[in-house]
Order: sequence, then C-alpha cells, then structure tokens
Amino acid sequence: MRLLIVEDDRQLREALTDLLRQSGFEVDAFAAGDQAFNALLSHDYDLAIVDLGLPGMDGLALVRSLRRQLRGLPILVVTARDALEDRVAGLDAGADDYLVKPFQLQELEARVRALLRRHRADRNAQIRIGALVLTPGEPRVSLGGVAVDLPASEFALLEALAVRAGRVVRRDDLADRLGRGTEPPSDTAIEVCVHRLRRRLSPLGLKVRTLRGFGYLLELPGDE
Ligand code: CA
Repeated sequence: MRLLIVEDDRQLREALTDLLRQSGFEVDAFAAGDQAFNALLSHDYDLAIVDLGLPGMDGLALVRSLRRQLRGLPILVVTARDALEDRVAGLDAGADDYLVKPFQLQELEARVRALLRRHRADRNAQIRIGALVLTPGEPRVSLGGVAVDLPASEFALLEALAVRAGRVVRRDDLADRLGRGTEPPSDTAIEVCVHRLRRRLSPLGLKVRTLRGFGYLLELPGDE
C-alpha cells in the first residue's frame, strides 16, 4: 500500500510519515500541493492525506483537481481550521473523510485503514469498459459476453489498465504489478504481454495505446 502525504508543517509531516512507515505503508511526503499533484498523476497511490492549509496550490484546489482526474483515489483531508465551513468545503470538494488538528496519530492511522477497506470493497465491484467486464482480483473476464480465463500476467496487466482506463499506467508501475514477489519483467516481456492483450481486445473495438518510454493506456470507448 502506497500513501501520499501533503503537509507543509515539517514536524507533523515527519511524524505522520514515520508512523505510517512503521505500520508497513510505503509513504511519499510533500510540503507543497503542486508537487503532490504531479506525483499523484504520475504514480499509482492507494490513498492521499491532504492538509487543507498549504502554501501555493491550496489543499481544497488540490482535492478538487484530484476528484476530476483521479476519481477512485481515497482522500483524507486534515485541517487546522476547526470551522464547520472548512470541513463541509473539504467534503464537497470530494474528500472521503476529514480530521481536525490536533489529532492523535493513532486516530489518523485508524481512519486511513477504514478508508482503504471501504475502497477495496468498492474496487471489488465490476468494471465495464465497452464489451469488457472485469472483476478486480478474479482472473476470469468477460469479453464480448464470453467468459475467458486469462493467464496471470495478462490478467494483472489488463486489471491495471482497466482500473485506470482512460489514463496512463506507467511502465514501472506495470512492472511492479506483473513482477509481484519476483523479478520485475523486462520491457520486452511487458511488450509481449501487451501484444497478446491487444489481440484479444481489438476485435471488441478496445484499444491499448503505447506512450513510448512512458507507459500504456486503455482507451475508453469513444476516446480518440
Ligand atoms: Ca498547513
């Protein structure tokens, strides 16, 4: 599980980072909203913890942009301002939960775990993209109404692309996913796997686009 924290208060940022790392999470921490935004768009995170009062790109603006571009990302907002309007604004902007400072670090961890659990349950719901129906975690997919058992590597690849359909999945994130527990696969191995998937998907009008040197993208039907 990889988390992102954006918090400009260095002490709090470091305390949160330490705590969550000790609890077994991978954590990337940022002091500024725009840095956090760029990181979130280019890597695969499971959850973001966003301080509302940030210099530069304000936390609320960040949450709003994230909701537009990363619909499925769970967001926990933290705010020093104990004003009701701030909390309401945070939730309105698309945050999933909020905490008011000062809070117990254990409380934050409990909220993070609860959000991740909720999100996992949502993720187990089916994903439909045109003629493709996929249930995350279940290697049997439906292609044009026909149930197909995919080899593990092809399923892992398709799942990663489908969960982020319409957005780029970075090559290194795919390598992490495909090589889970073992050696990450070579670029050629990924290429071969993508090629096999394309052969299955193209008769259904579904396209996997290559972004050279960067990654792959499963186009949403109707996208150019
Ligand atoms: Ca702050």
